Amino acid sequence: MSWDPRGAIGTKRAGKRVPDADLERLVHAYAAGAVGDGPMAAFLMACVIQGLDADETAAMTRAFVASGRTMTLGDLGRPVVDKHSTGGVGDAVSLVFAPLVAALGLACVKVSGRGLGHTGGTIDKLEAIPGFRVELDIASMRRQAADIGCVIASQTAQLVPADGVVYALRDATATVRSIPLIAASVMAKKLAIGSDLILLDVKAGSGAFMTDLTDAGELVAACLAIARGAHRATAAAITDMSQPLGTTIGNALEIGEAVEVLRGERAGRLRDLSVWLAARALARLTGIGFPAATERAVACLGNGTAIEAFRAMVVAQGGDPAVAETPWSVLASAPVQVPVVSDRDGFLTRTDAAGIGEAAAVLGAGRRHKGESIDPAVGIVLTPKVGDRIERGSPIGSVHARDQDRGRTTAAAILHALTIEAEAVEPPPLVYGWSEEVG
Ligand code: URA
Repeated sequence: MSWDPRGAIGTKRAGKRVPDADLERLVHAYAAGAVGDGPMAAFLMACVIQGLDADETAAMTRAFVASGRTMTLGDLGRPVVDKHSTGGVGDAVSLVFAPLVAALGLACVKVSGRGLGHTGGTIDKLEAIPGFRVELDIASMRRQAADIGCVIASQTAQLVPADGVVYALRDATATVRSIPLIAASVMAKKLAIGSDLILLDVKAGSGAFMTDLTDAGELVAACLAIARGAHRATAAAITDMSQPLGTTIGNALEIGEAVEVLRGERAGRLRDLSVWLAARALARLTGIGFPAATERAVACLGNGTAIEAFRAMVVAQGGDPAVAETPWSVLASAPVQVPVVSDRDGFLTRTDAAGIGEAAAVLGAGRRHKGESIDPAVGIVLTPKVGDRIERGSPIGSVHARDQDRGRTTAAAILHALTIEAEAVEPPPLVYGWSEEVG
């Protein structure tokens, strides 16, 4: 007789602890199709409402990892860091971080996802580069990491397949927002890859899953507890997502911005956070001090080594290398650009980052449902950051759209997402916290 999931569902519904063996059985049975969407959705909703304790979260993570293959990287001749962001708006850090740490002598092996909802996905952004291949087998990833020092590939069906199907069901049943479920999902994907350091960038603010710092701190604690149990060195930053990180939101646009940062031609919060995280990884993996590591990271953006690592990654993955020199000679650009002009004078005191991300998704830069196709060319440029002075009538960005109508509607949505007031406010910090787990 097949296993009946109702016992585990009832236990969780009553707020009691589900035995490890039942959690493992449930995850495996669901991934194998032996338990249907209905019982699994009921179980996930019970988890959202009642929570999971640390042991249950660890058991769930182990079950996810055990559902697929794991990737042992062996000795690549460089220490390996695997970086993960919990998702944000205008968050192109991975595109800068991976080549930057390669230029610093580390290797970054990164398995990334596609964007969903108001948050963008690194894989969608890379696919804006003509020819760029995101589907790599494990042997190619290992070879590329050893040769070039950076590789970014899409989540394959081989790695953590149970998380793939459970995450899709969570998306369809409003059960994504649960700290233990997010921690298990994120950490399973990290534990399945044999890196020397897992580096988590947990976003907090209006454009993040975790809108407040308390929740972000709880997510960090849950992830570090899983890392401790699995004996894996892990570090986590809580970083600001109360406004888009970079000045562009959209796939080709974010590639263009990342290239400018890697060429040392662009300052700002995207560059600063990428440098900060790369320096943290370098300090942690080599033992040099954080200030010295920061200096070295900054130098790589100025001396051409970071953009050279990016170019090498693009070439290795079949993309057009011209993107590293003259990005707009190869990236798709939208037919219409509508300026966004401020209708008020004052200081930018708040940006609804999720609103901006949602406006970009409606334009076609993101997907509101799993599996939807996206338009690499469209997106938003938004220059001011919280704390900046804005003059009425002055241009503050532009909408890159397929037609004037959509451009104008999005420009109005952007203005609606900005709070402009007479009193100045301090810019929010870039980084709220940093914690390490030795593993
Ligand atoms: N990102 C993931 O990989 N999993 C989640 O559950 C949420 C965000």
